[in-house]
Amino acid sequence: MQDNVSPVAGQVGYVAIEQPFGLQPPKVHCPICGQQQFVEQDDEYLETPCEHLAFVFGGEEDEFVYASDDFAARFARFDAELDARFPNDEAQASAEYEEASSFYRDLFPRRLADLGYGASLLALRVTYGGMAEGSPVWFSDVYGFDYALIREADAE
Ligand SMILES: [Zn+2]
Repeated sequence: MQDNVSPVAGQVGYVAIEQPFGLQPPKVHCPICGQQQFVEQDDEYLETPCEHLAFVFGGEEDEFVYASDDFAARFARFDAELDARFPNDEAQASAEYEEASSFYRDLFPRRLADLGYGASLLALRVTYGGMAEGSPVWFSDVYGFDYALIREADAE
């Protein structure tokens, strides 16, 4: 597809995948360089991020489990702006704060836009489910890959 209009910031690429129940989450590889982002060794997951990985949000942990330096800096700015807008406990108890600060589900791509990301970011949300203590549980991990960090060598 050819598009002669130069791309502007555009929307974050946000893709949500849902796996059939009971399947283990996939081993996520970078779509730019092919590197696997986590490897299992002796029952432990080791982070093996490539330079394109901006962040990993762990659904089970319910927080970011990996942040690149660039992502961490963006997040710190976002957090400071949030504190300035909602300066006290009362303000932070409001629905507006929840709406402005939450990364829950559909708010995730909006937060990425708040962090200054545009169409050069691919966020891949993978939802997977299994049994835990007799009950079904579902988690969503989100991986962010930054195509703005692509180098000449990656295109070879
Ligand atoms: Zn990569």
